Amino acid sequence: MTNSLVIYNTLTRTKEKFEPLNPPFVGMYVCGPTVYSDVHLGNCRTFVSFDLINRYLLHLGYKVRYVRNITDAGHLEGDRDEGDDKFSKKARLEQLEPMEIVQRYTIGFHDVMRLFNTLPPSIEPTATGHIAEQIEMVKQIIDNGFAYEREGTVYFDVEKYSQGNNYTILTNRNLEELLANTRDLGGQDEKKGRLDFALWIKAKPEHIMRWPSPWGWGFPGWHIECSAMSSKYLGDVFDIHGGGMDLAATHHTNEIAQSQACNHTSPAKYWMHTNMLTVNGARMSKSAGNGFLPHELFTGSHPLLQKGYSPMTVRFFMLQAHYRSTLDFSNEALEASDKGFKRLMNAIDLLDKLKPSATSNVQVGDLKQACYDAMNDDFNSPVVIAQLFEAARIINGVYDGKAQATQEDIEALKSLMDDFVYDVLGLKVEKAETDDIGKIMEFIIQLRSEAKANKDYLTSDKIRNGLQDLGIQLKDSKEGTTWTKA
Ligand code: AMP
Ligand code: ZN
Repeated sequence: MTNSLVIYNTLTRTKEKFEPLNPPFVGMYVCGPTVYSDVHLGNCRTFVSFDLINRYLLHLGYKVRYVRNITDAGHLEGDRDEGDDKFSKKARLEQLEPMEIVQRYTIGFHDVMRLFNTLPPSIEPTATGHIAEQIEMVKQIIDNGFAYEREGTVYFDVEKYSQGNNYTILTNRNLEELLANTRDLGGQDEKKGRLDFALWIKAKPEHIMRWPSPWGWGFPGWHIECSAMSSKYLGDVFDIHGGGMDLAATHHTNEIAQSQACNHTSPAKYWMHTNMLTVNGARMSKSAGNGFLPHELFTGSHPLLQKGYSPMTVRFFMLQAHYRSTLDFSNEALEASDKGFKRLMNAIDLLDKLKPSATSNVQVGDLKQACYDAMNDDFNSPVVIAQLFEAARIINGVYDGKAQATQEDIEALKSLMDDFVYDVLGLKVEKAETDDIGKIMEFIIQLRSEAKANKDYLTSDKIRNGLQDLGIQLKDSKEGTTWTKA
């Protein structure tokens, strides 16, 4: 397969031909979750998007070293370098060790990633496991003259850096405006410049997560972990660095500055940013409190949901939007994805039942190339799905006897589905179990409605209560009865 993959590079704001530094190897670093609470669906969207990217690179034959970190230290409450760290706060509230918090939410994150059928990263380093590397990097940045210490905290000197480097290279923001819009230094503030950010932070007496350093007991700033871990596992310069769009302006901007100041080079050739999952137009985020947890979606227990949706339906819903477009979360959109996903999987089921004809009146030859063209155009999954729907239409037509396909056509359709539905889009057949339960529940709900219609309330209540004991909740509305599993 000749590679004509083109990637939108945030750094250059253009689509560029993908030319890895050291083919067939590709180094990809993606900023992972902060594990002080459950990941929400917005976080999942970003990780599913990079799973698509990873899968397609693997499909093209690249040997991808995919590094996705776990942030388990150093994330403070505010945007500024002050306040409590989120792990210590949660640990205090729940009377747990911070590492118990980290363990609980890391396991939860892996469970969710497995449900979404994402491939695990090649390396999943943690911030707390790489304190020594972070300290070394901070020391080097100080030695190179781009950082200074104040009272046990080390700050990156943005003004000094900006004299010879473009600090806002990633977002193209105007540095003067940025300075003007940044809040005034408080009198007690130790920073030299308003945009200076902490590389290492002195631990207050109550701060539980702390390590010894040349500057006393403290903990790393958030940005330094990714610079230290990406260079450790992928080298000072690697191919792709990614994360959600919200990370570009601060976290990734600071990562570039740190690498440049330490290693005299920008870390990544291609910067990729995924767009946000929104709810009623607002970004889904932990702090805004509008985050849906994946399990609330799978079970339908979230108050804004009419019913539950399976992990593959949700994955399909995410892939129906291009990774650089926003995706708004709604019952209607999920319902449409549910139908679409079933249509596709039903068509795949029919493939083995198709009877080949001697002649053909369907066009399947170009579908696969159209899927490659779409993926090669900056991973355009919605266009791939449109081609797959066309394949499903052809399969249904042949099955219904309205069209004829040769054995060769049928083989081509099978190969298309194998490559793109399973391998590239990462969809899979979900256990028939949920479908079976669905059908059984439909039947029970029907029995209960009949009992109610006959005024046999003893039976209808018995059904409702019996199901409740089994953890199944019935919800009656004008449209009928729906059910959810606790
Ligand atoms: P966090 O755990 O908050 O550090 O976020 C983990 C990843 O999820 C980062 O790459 C974020 O950019 C991304 N992210 C956060 N909120 C959203 C959202 N609403 N939609 C898509 N990605 C998000
Ligand atoms: Zn990062």
